[in-house]
Amino acid sequence: MDELPEFGRSALESLRQPLEDRHVTIGRARGVTRFPASFMLAAAMNPCACGFWGGDQSERPCTCSVGSLARYRARMSGPLADRIDLQVEIPRQPVSFGGGGMTSEEARGKLEAAYERQCRRYADTGIRWNSALSGRLLAVHARLPGDAEALLTGMYSRLGLSYRAHDRILKLSRTIADLEDCGDVRLEHVAEAVQYRALDRTMPDFEHGAIRGKQAARARNEAAAASASDRAAKGRKRPGTQGAPNQAGQAVCDSDDGTGR
Ligand SMILES: [Zn+2]
Repeated sequence: MDELPEFGRSALESLRQPLEDRHVTIGRARGVTRFPASFMLAAAMNPCACGFWGGDQSERPCTCSVGSLARYRARMSGPLADRIDLQVEIPRQPVSFGGGGMTSEEARGKLEAAYERQCRRYADTGIRWNSALSGRLLAVHARLPGDAEALLTGMYSRLGLSYRAHDRILKLSRTIADLEDCGDVRLEHVAEAVQYRALDRTMPDFEHGAIRGKQAARARNEAAAASASDRAAKGRKRPGTQGAPNQAGQAVCDSDDGTGR
């Protein structure tokens, strides 16, 4: 769904049930019917109506009023954003951008390995992917060491995350660990997963000015620092990503694509 906020509110809100339960329930006078609706949602939106909020204001300032910014952001409700696993900001890219990231073949290899790992792990559980983890299975398969638990608990409080978002971060951390062929979920995986909650981190709090935004930015920087220092300590490096030039400030997607990401 491109330009997500341009869709009607009722259409967007109707996504909440299938995103959560993987089915839709339709009730009519003659009865209620349940249909399967397991799908992957990929969507993009601008940061504001003019498209320049949060960018380099000296280069191209945002011309939106606070009211118009609030109205634009309000079209994406908190409960809908809550159900989106990966929320990624895509800054404006330079005209020329080099490689340095993974090739498609390398990415495919990582995904297939993560897929196999999940197939083996969940062979006798009745689920197939990390995204389906809940309750006891989540506690068992996404158990965190003390430092990672402390980071996630801190983010939960500081960003005012919902319980649902907390669990989604856990599941995503499990998938990031799988992509690194790592049996245990570690601090670096949680720190990376937290950074994929762009809407939680950057959504302006219009009732309380920019207070929440500043706190969120600080929390984001701390998570990034924790991730970087942990990776440096372990002597590992994430491959770079090749971002496509995109005016959109934020791209969001929910996946059930076999990797749980
Ligand atoms: Zn704007």
